[in-house]
Amino acid sequence: MADADIIVIGGGISGASFAFHAAKAGRSVRLLEREGRVGGCLHTHRVEGGFWVELGAHTAYNSYRGLLAMLEERGALGEVLAREKAPFRLMCDGQVRRIGQELRVLELLASAPRILWAKKAGRTVREYYGGLVGARNYQRVFGPLFAAVPSQPADDFPAEMLFKSRKRRKDIARSFTLRGGLSTAVETAVKGPGIAVESGVEVVAVRRGSGGFVVTAGGRELSARNVALAVPPPAAAKLLAASFPELAVPLAGLRSATVETVGVVVRKEALQLERVAGLIPLDGNFFSAVSRDPLTDATYRGFAFHFKPGGSQASRLEVIAGVLGVAQAKLEHVAERQVVLPSPVLGHAETVAALDKVLTGTGLFLTGNYFDGLSIEDCVSRSAREVERLLAEAATSGQ
Ligand SMILES: Cc1cc2nc3c(=O)[nH]c(=O)nc-3n(C[C@H](O)[C@H](O)[C@H](O)COP(=O)(O)OP(=O)(O)OC[C@H]3O[C@@H](n4cnc5c(N)ncnc54)[C@H](O)[C@@H]3O)c2cc1C
Repeated sequence: MADADIIVIGGGISGASFAFHAAKAGRSVRLLEREGRVGGCLHTHRVEGGFWVELGAHTAYNSYRGLLAMLEERGALGEVLAREKAPFRLMCDGQVRRIGQELRVLELLASAPRILWAKKAGRTVREYYGGLVGARNYQRVFGPLFAAVPSQPADDFPAEMLFKSRKRRKDIARSFTLRGGLSTAVETAVKGPGIAVESGVEVVAVRRGSGGFVVTAGGRELSARNVALAVPPPAAAKLLAASFPELAVPLAGLRSATVETVGVVVRKEALQLERVAGLIPLDGNFFSAVSRDPLTDATYRGFAFHFKPGGSQASRLEVIAGVLGVAQAKLEHVAERQVVLPSPVLGHAETVAALDKVLTGTGLFLTGNYFDGLSIEDCVSRSAREVERLLAEAATSGQ
């Protein structure tokens, strides 16, 4: 007998939302996660006393309708917490600066009218936005601002993939988090009938077996009619290499970057730094320092520094202490984290469309932040569509 109708590999928001939708459709789901916790890039580092800091994603928006619908279905909309307004600031030469102070206004005014005719399709972020704000403004200010979004240079990303406009829900705060941090979204999605979660279990191979698939994990072989992979492309390529080279080869060709994060918690009274949503350096060895200030706390402030590759823990702590203007001994809680994010380039959409073609009718499902885009909502919408395909293919084959 099969161990589940569907085995989902990877417990980030993509795997969790796939599991949620599949279980809602009446399938039994077994979700296998390599780490000791679910969440993936949604990683709320919680410290005693209820304070937490986000090591990964920090903001959700009222346009994340798929995410909100899942929370609503689980009765968890009450967990939504509005983020208060706080400014992003630039850092240059060790000084905190307003964004406007670093912009060349004449260049901006001369370039801005292009918004009337500039097209995103087929253009990189640098080409499209550089045209709208001017080459110098882009290089000096907007390049670093955009790099802060995916914690890597975004210049060569397809312009269409970085920001999207979606219909908003008026009953929800424009930008929000959850009471216990964004990890709560994943924890809530997988907590429901029909979903069994096993964390601390690394899957090492996927192959076809009688009546479906066999997944090798933790020294066991588990069987299921269907398998969904919700892991970054390099991990998916590895799992599929032996049995599904037609998928593994294009997956291995997708570029990705490792994001290295150090989160710190500091007592409020130790800091002089003004209240900020984040700091973005115009030069230096980190992409951004995202603050937890949009949720005021009586005792602590928290920051997640997303570093450029290379550098030791000691040098990173020195940078953090320098930026925050405190002695290292004042960094009360320090947490480190590494995740993999896609680095899409022009042609990415065609590659994933080709992957979808190969996937059709296989009984195998792929989801993640490398299909529709990198945002949480992009992951949720991809997963929902893959579950629709699962149901349609099952209906066709009479399962
Ligand atoms: C620093 C940072 C800030 C961000 N900020 C925002 C933001 O504010 N708003 C927003 O919308 N988005 C943001 N994002 C993007 C968004 O968080 C991610 O794109 C999204 O969470 C990715 O989810 P995922 O499930 O596709 O992948 P992941 O979260 O990477 O999950 C994949 C999971 O698979 C597991 N896994 C891997 N290999 C195996 C294996 N062999 N066996 C079992 N399990 C395995 C991993 O441990 C991981 O838990 C941010 C991302 C980062 C890194």
